[in-house]
Amino acid sequence: MIRLSKPFIEEEEIDAVSEVLKSGNLIQGARVKEFEAAIQSYSGAKFAVAVSNCTAALHLSLLSLNVQADDLVLVSSFSWPSTANVICLCGAHPVFIDINPRTFNMDANSLRRTLTSLMSNNSISKKVKAIIPVHTFGQMADMINIMDVAKNFGVPVIEDAACALGAEYRNKKAGRYGEIGCFSFHPRKAITTGEGGMVVTDNETIYRYIRALRNHGLDSLSLTPKFIIPGYNYRLSDIHAALGTIQMSKIDTLIEKKVQQAKIYNNEFQNSSIRSPYTDEDAKHVFQSYVVKLDQDMATERTSIIRKLSDSGIQTTIGTYHMPMLEYFRIRYNHTPDTCPESFKVEQSLVSLPLHHELTTEEQATVAESLKALCQ
Ligand SMILES: *Cc1c(COP(=O)(O)O)cnc(C)c1O
Repeated sequence: MIRLSKPFIEEEEIDAVSEVLKSGNLIQGARVKEFEAAIQSYSGAKFAVAVSNCTAALHLSLLSLNVQADDLVLVSSFSWPSTANVICLCGAHPVFIDINPRTFNMDANSLRRTLTSLMSNNSISKKVKAIIPVHTFGQMADMINIMDVAKNFGVPVIEDAACALGAEYRNKKAGRYGEIGCFSFHPRKAITTGEGGMVVTDNETIYRYIRALRNHGLDSLSLTPKFIIPGYNYRLSDIHAALGTIQMSKIDTLIEKKVQQAKIYNNEFQNSSIRSPYTDEDAKHVFQSYVVKLDQDMATERTSIIRKLSDSGIQTTIGTYHMPMLEYFRIRYNHTPDTCPESFKVEQSLVSLPLHHELTTEEQATVAESLKALCQ
C-alpha cells in the first residue's frame, strides 16, 4: 500500500518518550515548557500555550476573545469541521465566508462585503466577535487583505494554522498576522505529537486567560492556588510534549522534503487534465497535503476514482469539507449550495494524494500515472 501519510518517527523520539515514562513525571513538567519554548521561538510570537489538540486551541481562543451565546464569528467555509464546531460550542453562530477557488482560502472581498453589511446594523455589529481564516492544506490565506478588512472594522482574527506550521505570507509566518494563531500536531500535520495543539499570541491578557482555561481555571501567575474562571482540562502531557520538541528540531527538513515532492508531482501532472495546487507567489506553501483538482466533469467520478486507486494499492482521500452543507449546519441554518457556491463547487473535485518522507519518486510516478489513467 502506498500510504497517504506517515509520521516521521525516529529512535530519538522513542527515547525521549521513554525518558518521560521512566521519570515518573508525566504531566505539567519541564517537557511542556520546552515544547512551548520551541514553538514560541520558531513562530516568533511572544507567548505559546500547549493544549491537547488544535480544536481545543481554537475553542480557547474564541473564549479568550469573549465569544458568547448568540455572537457571530466569520469563518472560512472550507475546512475541517472543528473550525466551525468550536463557534457553536461557545453558543455563537458561524457566518460562512466563501473561498477563492484557486487557493481554497477565505476570499478577502467576500469577507469585506459580509462584514460591511453586518457592521451597518448597530444591534448586529455588537455581536461580531472574531474572524477565522484557515490556511488550507499548508498555504496561507491572503492575510494582507484579510487583516486590512479586520482592522478596518476592529474585529480580531484567529488564524486556523492547523496545517500551516512553517508556512509564510510575504515572509511573515503563519500565526503571526492575527491576534491569535492555532496549530495542530495531529499525525497528518507538519510535525506530530500524536494528539496536540498550540496557541500563539503577543497579547499577555489572552495568554494568561488561555493558560487558566486549559487548566481548570487556575491562574498561572498567582503564587497561591486561585481559580479565576470555570476552566477545562485541555492540557498537553509531557509524553506528547517530549515528542514535539524532538519533532521541532526536524521541521525545516520535513517541510523541504514535502516541497521537493510537490515539485515532482507538479511535473507529473503537466499537460494533463489534473490540476496541481495553485501556489500564490506571496505564499510559502508547506504542503501539509498535496491536493489536486479534477476536471469538473470528472468530479462526479471522484468517489469511484478514490476507490479504484485504493484497490490498486494507493491510498488517497478527499480534500476537506464545505462546512455549510454538513448535516448540522445545513439543517440548523437552512444552508443550500448557494451559501458559498465556490467552496461548494471546489469540494467535489479535490483529491489528496500520498505525501510523506518515505514516498519514493517511483511511487509518486505510479500515483500520478494511475490517477491520470482513471481521468481519461
Ligand atoms: C487538523 C485540523 C484541525 C483540528 O486539529 P486537531 O489537532 O485534530 O484538533 C482544525 N482545523 C484544520 C484546518 C485542520 O486541518
